[in-house]
Amino acid sequence: MNELICIGCGVKIQTDEPKKIGYAPPSSLNKEEIVCQRCFRLKNYNEIQDVSLTDDDFIKILHGIGDTKALIVKIVDIFDFNGSWLTGLNRFVGNNPILLVGNKVDILPKSVNKERLSNWMKREAKELGLKPVDVMLVSSARGTGIKEVTEAIDHLRNGQDVYVVGCTNVGKSTFINRILKEVSGEEDVITTSHYPGTTLDLIEIPLDDGSSLFDTPGIINHHQMAHYIEKKDLKLLSPKKEIKPRVFQLNEKQTLFFGGLARFDYVSGGRTSFVCYIPAELDIHRTKLENADELYKKHAGDLLQPPRRDQVDDFPELVRHEFMIKDGKTDIVFSGLGWVTANDANKKIVAYAPRGVNITLRRSLI
Ligand code: GDP
Repeated sequence: MNELICIGCGVKIQTDEPKKIGYAPPSSLNKEEIVCQRCFRLKNYNEIQDVSLTDDDFIKILHGIGDTKALIVKIVDIFDFNGSWLTGLNRFVGNNPILLVGNKVDILPKSVNKERLSNWMKREAKELGLKPVDVMLVSSARGTGIKEVTEAIDHLRNGQDVYVVGCTNVGKSTFINRILKEVSGEEDVITTSHYPGTTLDLIEIPLDDGSSLFDTPGIINHHQMAHYIEKKDLKLLSPKKEIKPRVFQLNEKQTLFFGGLARFDYVSGGRTSFVCYIPAELDIHRTKLENADELYKKHAGDLLQPPRRDQVDDFPELVRHEFMIKDGKTDIVFSGLGWVTANDANKKIVAYAPRGVNITLRRSLI
């Protein structure tokens, strides 16, 4: 077969993997002008579809961005801030300004202080080597904050192009689709065209002043918990509604299991309460610390699930992280899963997450 190229974005066409870049259904190949499914959907339905690509290809795209003058809009999932962080972006964007957008605010309990969350995001970004011009919070699913972010983008881009970047699952497609509605109303203003001079694989959405908004393919971030579990269980980790706190009064040497995905040992510090912000669909199981190892060995996959029975053998081992809570009200954050708030200082905690998944501390958001 000759190499076929999408006339929309210029990517190489493939017919094997629908979720990967360049996919086109085999039946579409006998048309005169071949477009990939992503361009087809954008053109015909004004809809962005998420596709993913390999790390190497993504780095090529980032290089391309560094060579142009543009505003970078970086989307993170605030429920999985560290897990959904794109490392390396700072090395590639050159001097271009970055607007950091935290998506999925609708999942956070109402009691979360939004200003504190923004400040925390700024601090965290700085620590990760990024200095955004601004931080904004949105719910792309509900539309919250979209108008504000659209205005901010228009202001910050200064007549230049916009690149939207984010790893898979942060809600980048949902976000762009919202923005499109906001700027275009119901009109069909979207065309796709190959953008010469940069790496391929970008989807171009013209803005009204001759500049463009580019959708970049999402990169798979291997640190996300989501990659360790099955599709049906993934729903647990992508909650659609506000998370309700669950409070546990714990004595020293008691353990909580979050399904079979993570574990929280309260080691010492006297009887106290912990507030769990974990999706309601995931069972929290309490036991004595001395029984915890045994319980996990015996019941991972049934009482403690996900992972399911047939996945237990392939599931990464739980890795131990030890913490001393020093600064008063603190969140122990399990990347992509949620967090537990310790109400005061001088508590010793040991937390476990699958290898590759982060556990971090932060000042409580509530
Ligand atoms: P992409 O891979 O980054 O393009 O992400 P998608 O737009 O496909 O969204 C990934 C998942 O997150 C889907 O299940 C969406 O329904 C969900 N999602 C996207 N935006 C939001 C949001 O603002 N709130 C909530 N709760 N879920 C969202």
